[in-house]
Parts: sequence; structure tokens; C-alpha cells
Amino acid sequence: MKSLDRAGKAVGAWGSRALDLILPPTCPITGERVERPGLLSAAGWSKIRFIEDPVCAHCGAPFAYDQGEGAECAACIAAPPAFDRARASVVYDDASHRLIVGFKHSDRTELAPLFAGWLKRAGAALFREGTILIPTPLHRRRLIARRFNQAAILAQRLAEETGARLLLDGLVRTRATPPQKSLSADARRRNVAGAFAVREDRKAEILGGRIILIDDVMTTGATLSAAARALKRAGAAEVDALVLARAMKDGVDAF
Ligand SMILES: [Zn+2]
Repeated sequence: MKSLDRAGKAVGAWGSRALDLILPPTCPITGERVERPGLLSAAGWSKIRFIEDPVCAHCGAPFAYDQGEGAECAACIAAPPAFDRARASVVYDDASHRLIVGFKHSDRTELAPLFAGWLKRAGAALFREGTILIPTPLHRRRLIARRFNQAAILAQRLAEETGARLLLDGLVRTRATPPQKSLSADARRRNVAGAFAVREDRKAEILGGRIILIDDVMTTGATLSAAARALKRAGAAEVDALVLARAMKDGVDAF
């Protein structure tokens, strides 16, 4: 078993998938052994910070104290996002970053059922009769490089769990945009402005529809706002956003 232990550590370091299949599964946050793929260890769970009410009625940012029904945060009042409401499952911090990076770049798709459960809970107020789920699309080039769109996998699993309709190709990226990571809030807005469009042959389905945009991370909300704007321009009645993790507004927890 000793050599297997050593091999397990090496695999963690290299991120090799082939060996992952024959070695015991590990927690994506702590690296500890877990019973089966897709589980977190107890220590991993304790590091996840779930977002609970009260939150901003518009963008879902957590409030330190209850400000009454329908209260919005200062940022939403100053510059209202184009989506109607956004909700997130967890705070985007070091622990959730590790989880999501694993999901995005290492094909840890076994986490999809866990994430879908989190999304279902966080977005409970958003689901209605006839809700349509649309994942934030990647540009074709990035999709080829990464092989799959993590937002599409989340949306797919969530549709199975909730019975909501899934429209995988409702939105397209009309141009490739540089990664948002190192940009300021203003630059992020400019970077993604006009980067999304509704496919011509999907317009009839979008018209009058109640949409929930699905993504993994929301930082400033610029990407989701740009996507929502395209859907509303195409006649969507309502566009909400549901994400796994969101950065905190004060910047303390932001990446
Ligand atoms: Zn807000």
C-alpha cells in the first residue's frame, strides 16, 4: 500500500487522469481520500462557505444583516445589472476556487451531481413553470482547448434534477474575449460588451421566455450582464442568473 500512497501523491501533483481511474478517489479541496469520486472529505466540507439569506434582491450579494424585503446593495443601485436576479451557492474563496478549477480543467465531472444539488438549493426561488436553462457559452476556440464547457455540464445536470428545459445552444459568443481575471470592473464590462448573441434559429424559443443563465463563477457580474442583455434584446421576458460561486463585493474574498 505504501507505494500506492506515494503514487497517489504524485498523481495529485501531476493531475494525471489515467492514474486517477485506478487510484482511490480524493477530496478536491483537501486531497484526503474519500469513499468514491464526487465526494468531499469532512474537512473539505467545513471549508465551503454557503451563501444564506439575507442577500441583495438583485445580485444576490450577502448582506451582513437583514435590510428588509427587496433591498438592493449599493452597487446594484448605482449600476443595475442587466439580469433580473442572480443567486449563488457559495462564496468564491480558496476552497471553492480549488473545487471549480478541478471541475473546469481536470475533467472532474464527477462533481456535477454535488454542484447541481447546490445550485438547485440556491436557485429555488428562481425556478418556475416553463423555466429555460441556458449555460454561458465559451467561444469555440476555448471550447476546443478545454474540450468541454463546465457551465453546460452544470446546466445539463440541473435540468435533469429540476425538470427545467435545457437550451444548450441558446446563446453564442460572437467573439473571443481575453480572460476577465486580471481586468478592472470597468474593463471587464467593456471586454464582454456585445460578445453574446442569440442564435437566429433559437429566437422563437427565447421570445417571452423565462431564462436562468447558468455559470460556475460570478466575479463582477459583467459577463452575466452582457449575456442577459443579449437575451433580453431577443425578447426574453425574464433573465435570472444562477452560479456556483460568487466573489464577495468588498474585495476581501475576491480573486
Ligand atoms: Zn446587488
